[in-house]
Amino acid sequence: MVKVGCTELQYQREREYYSRIVPVVQQIKKRHNVANKIQQQETEFFKHLSNSLRVDSLPQIAGLLKRLNERLGQNLTIDLFLLQCPVAFAASMGRDGLVSKGESREIIVIVSQHFLNNLKDVEQLSVLGHEVAHLIFGHMEVPGKIILTTETSLAGQPTLKSDTLKWMICREISCDVLGLVACDCDEEAFSSAMLKFFTGLSPQVLCVEGLLTQLQESSFRQLDDIHESPFDPVLSSHPLTPLRLKLAKLLVQSALIGKYGSAVSQEELLSLKKEFNQMIDTQVRRIYPDIVSGEGQAAEDEVGYDICLAVALADGKVTSDEMVAIAKIVGDSPYARTRLRQTRERLIRTRGTEIGAELVRSAVQKARGRRLSKSEIVRLLKKMLVVAATDRTLENSELDMVYSFAKEFGVTQQDIVILVHQMGLR
Ligand SMILES: [Zn+2]
Repeated sequence: MVKVGCTELQYQREREYYSRIVPVVQQIKKRHNVANKIQQQETEFFKHLSNSLRVDSLPQIAGLLKRLNERLGQNLTIDLFLLQCPVAFAASMGRDGLVSKGESREIIVIVSQHFLNNLKDVEQLSVLGHEVAHLIFGHMEVPGKIILTTETSLAGQPTLKSDTLKWMICREISCDVLGLVACDCDEEAFSSAMLKFFTGLSPQVLCVEGLLTQLQESSFRQLDDIHESPFDPVLSSHPLTPLRLKLAKLLVQSALIGKYGSAVSQEELLSLKKEFNQMIDTQVRRIYPDIVSGEGQAAEDEVGYDICLAVALADGKVTSDEMVAIAKIVGDSPYARTRLRQTRERLIRTRGTEIGAELVRSAVQKARGRRLSKSEIVRLLKKMLVVAATDRTLENSELDMVYSFAKEFGVTQQDIVILVHQMGLR
């Protein structure tokens, strides 16, 4: 039997990206310029402390920190500092700075006055739970922001920066999970704390009957809009707030979190973790398809690649602008490279439109095999249209190619016209 604790609640994608980047990061950290930046970042963090008021010995705060440790099954020394700041803010660092691994038991958390002014104690627990999770999960070891902003000539490591960015998004999700657990899975408290911090809305405004729910719902609609948009959101180091709210709402109902603190068999744990991680994956994939690339995703990417290439071939050739667009939309992969090479070779003897038609036929079969939903099909069509619009004009031959794929899934020519207008392409 195993006790379900914090470690079991770490988002598995985070670990995958972590193990991918950490060997390289260990090397880079030794480099002069990076080591200097780490030093600088630490100094800046510790400089804040001199302008801050230490509050962890206040009886009410000490009690809160004790509850936090108990709830997370930890024995951390948490130094809590209050810093006056125009925007609501919380940040943390291991006592030993950025070099500490998860083993360090002492953490410094700095919060702005909003933490005490605007948050109820259960909301405070959710914020603190998130912050100490960075230490529990060993996040301090990878200086993410520094890696993103440092010019590193990394032969053979072309994906380090993008992997780091993906890891950073995933790690925030892991921390949110502990934030939820810290406040006893009080999803409302978790969400109101997040909304207060991100919108700056005061408790007086947020306590209006029903407003919190309305804001949540509106943020979920925003999430759907982003999902339906043909362009993926720009990756930034924190997941979009609406996504975090949505995950909180879903995850409090997950069986794994329900079993937090109790003992389960090894077998049960495996299946609970699988379900839990799939729940997160499903939501993350809708917004950041690049982050979740499982088998299913690979098949979808193949379909996406083939039909985008088919659109590019509608006028008989593939231009380099079109190649750049396709790589941006579908991403680069061994499959894509092989496909492109084959296509270029075939173009010597075969007409582009003919190859395009073949690509569409095989994509239709694959999409059917994958049982893609209507919204997934629409998403693919939007990708095709973006490629078609790359050379500024939407040619009829390109639209015909889009339609040849669309019609197999019950999408009409009129639907495509509507899509084109919605996307502002005409
Ligand atoms: Zn965080």
